[in-house]
Amino acid sequence: MIDAAYADRLIVITAPSGAGKSTLIHRLMQEDPNLVFSVSHTTRPPRAGEQDGREYHFVGEAEFDRMVASDGFLEWADVHGRRYGTAREEIASLLATGKRVLLDIDVKGGLRLQSLLKALFIFIAVDGPETLRRRLVERATDRREVIERRVANATRELEAGRRWPHVVVNHDLAQAYTDLKKLIDGGGGGGGGG
Ligand code: ADP
Ligand code: 5GP
Repeated sequence: MIDAAYADRLIVITAPSGAGKSTLIHRLMQEDPNLVFSVSHTTRPPRAGEQDGREYHFVGEAEFDRMVASDGFLEWADVHGRRYGTAREEIASLLATGKRVLLDIDVKGGLRLQSLLKALFIFIAVDGPETLRRRLVERATDRREVIERRVANATRELEAGRRWPHVVVNHDLAQAYTDLKKLIDGGGGGGGGG
């Protein structure tokens, strides 16, 4: 379904939780009318302020099972104890708009996609797990145990960043945004595909 012709229109952004991925993606979406965001399905409950169909399609376990069984996902993964997946239909309809499609995918999913298709694969990194913990605590959207589970996964996830063709370090947010924008405007298709 996704052939190489689309490689320059797919942008896959991956980061450990708390690295600032949502903040950066939000700004990209606001500033670039030629980008559309791939809304994933998830079994995790919405956070305060999140809207069904905007951040995610929030579904129950049974609905997610049904989509897995009918091969409805391009990829899906268990992330921090919840399931997240990118529907094939979502990507097909967004590609049909002619715009560039931005996917927010976890580390496992990002590695799998790198072996599955060509795209611009970007990893958002920070200096270490403590920075992630501090940011997640300050964000105050998740319970303490959820934060600890995410931070516990982070060391391994940060190391996996070495397997990405492009890494943007989000220390200073403005600088990270500039670096990210440069990569995206520099054209797609840079790396990935194995
Ligand atoms: P993610 O989507 O990767 O989990 P968020 O974008 O929600 O992360 O960012 C986590 C928290 O860190 C948010 O409260 C955000 O405002 C903050 N943040 C993002 N980038 C920076 C930065 N460079 N310096 C300090 N705080 C940041
Ligand atoms: P959050 O719960 O913080 O919104 O997201 C948790 C993680 O799930 C993030 O790392 C995010 O990139 C990932 N994620 C969101 N959608 C998808 C998806 O469709 N597939 C995969 N593999 N991961 C996803």
